[in-house]
Amino acid sequence: MEMPEPEAGWLRHPVFYNPTDNAVFLVVMSDVLIRVSSAQWAHRSPFIKTLMHGHLGKPGEGESDKCPIPLLVGTMPEYEDFLTIIFPRCARDIGAMSEREPRELLAIFKLTSYFDMHEDHSLAYDALTAHPNFDPAYKLLSGHKLKIPEWRDPALRALLSIGTDKLSAQQKEWLHGFEVDGQAFYLTLAELRAWLFRNRLEITETYAQCQKHVTCRSHALCESTWSRIWTGFVRHWLHSSSGCSEERAREILRAADIDGLGPCLHGMRDSLTEKALLQEEEKIQLLLHMLESASHSS
Ligand SMILES: [Zn+2]
Repeated sequence: MEMPEPEAGWLRHPVFYNPTDNAVFLVVMSDVLIRVSSAQWAHRSPFIKTLMHGHLGKPGEGESDKCPIPLLVGTMPEYEDFLTIIFPRCARDIGAMSEREPRELLAIFKLTSYFDMHEDHSLAYDALTAHPNFDPAYKLLSGHKLKIPEWRDPALRALLSIGTDKLSAQQKEWLHGFEVDGQAFYLTLAELRAWLFRNRLEITETYAQCQKHVTCRSHALCESTWSRIWTGFVRHWLHSSSGCSEERAREILRAADIDGLGPCLHGMRDSLTEKALLQEEEKIQLLLHMLESASHSS
C-alpha cells in the first residue's frame, strides 16, 4: 500500500518509522515522525499506556501521519538514544546502561522522566553518577540544569584538581553555560582556583620553618624533621596538574607519623590542618552552597 505523504515540513525517521507498527508520534522540536509499536512502549511506560487507552489526547490521534501524537519534550537525536532501550536494533542496545556514553545516558535520563519510566530512569541516574567518562565540567553543568546536588561536589573537586590552563575549549564552554551570583561559573571557578593557589603559596612560606615550642629542648632535630616532611608535602601541595585535596593533604601529614616526636612538630601539624586546610575546605563549601542556591533560582 502506498503511504500518503506526511504534512509539509515533517519527515519520517529513517529507522524509527516502521510502516507496519500502529502508533505515529511527532517529535515536535525536530518535526520528525516516528511510527512504533505502542504495546511494546506501553509495557515500559505508564505514560504511553494511559495515552493509548484514550485517557489523554484527541480521538484518532496517533493513527496516521496526518494526525500524530505530539511529543513536546526532547529532540530527535535524544529520541534516537532513548528509543533504543525500548526498541533495540542490535545486541549493544540491550546491554547494560553503564556501557553507554554520558551523552546517551543524559538523553535517556531526561526522556525516561517524561514518560514515567521510573526503573529505567533510576538505572540511567546510577550509570551517570558512577560513569568514569562523565567529564566533570559537563557533570557540573548537567547537575545544575537537572538540579542534581549529588553531582556537584565530586565534579567541583575534580575541576579544582586540574589546572585551569588545561581545561579544553569544550570544558570552558560548558562552564560558561550557567551563572552563579550573576557571573558565568567559569569565572567564579577561575577566581577560586586563583585564591587556592595564592593561599597555598602563602602557607608554603608561613609553615616552612618549624616554630619552637617553649618546652622544646632539642629544636635542631625538630627543624630537620619538619624540613623533610615539608619538602614531601609541598611537592603535592603545589602540584597544579594533579592537584592536592584537603583530604590528601591530611593523609600526607598523617603518614609523616610524628606522634612520638616533640611538641613543636605537633603544633605545626595541628595549626596547618586546623587553620590552613580548613580554610580551604570552607571556601569550597561556600562555592558548593552558592551553586545550590543558583540551581534553585534558575
Ligand atoms: Zn622543637
